[in-house]
Amino acid sequence: MTQQNDSTTSDVAIIDELRTWLTDNWNPDLTVAAWWELLGLAGWAAPMLPVGSYGRGLPRSMAVQVSQEILAFGAMGAPDGLGLLLAAPTIADHGTPEQIETYVRPIVTGQQAWCQLFSEPGAGSDLAGLTTRATKDGDEWVFTGQKVWTSLGQSADVGMLIARTSPDVPKHQGISYFALDMHQPGVEVRPLREMTGHAMFNETFLTEAHAPDTALIGGKDNGWAVANTTLAYERSGLGSGGSARGATATPGTIAGNLTRRAGDFVSSRPTAKKSSAAKSRGAMFDIFAGLAKGNGRNSDALIRQDLVRLFQFGEIGRLNGERLKATRARGGDIPGMANISKLSMSNIVRLQRDLGLSIVGAQGMLHGYESAEQKIVTEATGNPFLGAVTGTALYAQAPSIYGGTDQVQKNIIGERALGLAKEPNNDKTAAFSSLPKNA
Ligand SMILES: Cc1cc2nc3c(=O)[nH]c(=O)nc-3n(C[C@H](O)[C@H](O)[C@H](O)COP(=O)(O)OP(=O)(O)OC[C@H]3O[C@@H](n4cnc5c(N)ncnc54)[C@H](O)[C@@H]3O)c2cc1C
Repeated sequence: MTQQNDSTTSDVAIIDELRTWLTDNWNPDLTVAAWWELLGLAGWAAPMLPVGSYGRGLPRSMAVQVSQEILAFGAMGAPDGLGLLLAAPTIADHGTPEQIETYVRPIVTGQQAWCQLFSEPGAGSDLAGLTTRATKDGDEWVFTGQKVWTSLGQSADVGMLIARTSPDVPKHQGISYFALDMHQPGVEVRPLREMTGHAMFNETFLTEAHAPDTALIGGKDNGWAVANTTLAYERSGLGSGGSARGATATPGTIAGNLTRRAGDFVSSRPTAKKSSAAKSRGAMFDIFAGLAKGNGRNSDALIRQDLVRLFQFGEIGRLNGERLKATRARGGDIPGMANISKLSMSNIVRLQRDLGLSIVGAQGMLHGYESAEQKIVTEATGNPFLGAVTGTALYAQAPSIYGGTDQVQKNIIGERALGLAKEPNNDKTAAFSSLPKNA
């Protein structure tokens, strides 16, 4: 994505402009839809998007500050979700002006929610091995196949779909990228329950689902390049911890939030802005240090050691962010940084899991999967933070898998950033149709 970092406009001036804009426009009595329309069209919902694609061309670090400022002001944040995180920047990079108008506008204004239809039962790490077929029928594309792990598919209006358009060329060369309308008879979304007790994922069955030719993003058989753009945004976005969202409604037509009052999604106490010292220690360190103190475990040497490791991880992430910002300001880039950030996030979440469980001790074996159960656990233990600790521990396995597993990140760093030799195989030259298929 284009990073238009205008060095003549200081960060302070941008935040001043935002504050003035918020003073003039924020009104808690607006509907969610009306507020997001104002925020999105002014370029504040997704300021990282290029100017001309409903953004302001700001670097990620500045976009995070914009989100924090909106919350600190006491206004409702931008529409969260995979549309804003992945689909909008991908379409801004690869789409036509018409596609930007058709798809990016309803994302930044929260009108449509998106999901990612990439993984299949036989194609996860080996994503280019996907077998969902797309065939042309007049001006339309027809899709048949199965996707899996579709996060938030149950509340999505549109899906980022990759499907095979040319089976008789090498596998990376025969894939195309589409925007698929999820509201049609050929799309069936079935929930999958996770170990957390939630059903965030789904299996998605496509049986002669349709999309117009205008929904093809980036051209026929160019889907691998487009999908890699999405994956790069996923890794860098998730690796940086996304952005400071917090107080916001759920976008899209299915969640039913658009007609509600925006002010009802905002905490009555605006988020206090932290001092730069507190920011550098990292919000997570503060939470876990507080948890250790509250549970009388802050003098335990092993817990103190892990708290310091958490602090160090936070600092390394912050300094890497600064390094990347400075490199980009000079027109350069750091190869593999998105992968390094994502690996680092997996490490942080695993450490949070272990540290949290060490702090709460045997109580960590108690978890309420439903809110009524959790209430009973909280009352029985007298520990109001226990649910957050056990919930974090149960979810901690996810970041090392989604958006490409830890092992896949390491392969990419080895091959693309360090220039190490690839594993020998013929999948860059042999036709996909001639390759042995995954089970
Ligand atoms: C919380 C969560 C949300 C997700 N959301 C979505 C979503 O919204 N949309 C979507 O499309 N997908 C989603 N996924 C799927 C995710 O992208 C895949 O699970 C992931 O890419 C791994 O694929 P797989 O599960 O098929 O595992 P496999 O690819 O079968 O991997 C199994 C194991 O083998 C290892 N392995 C595989 N290949 C190699 C290799 N070449 N070198 C070394 N090790 C290797 C892996 O690291 C892993 O440990 C989600 C997953 C999770 C956990």
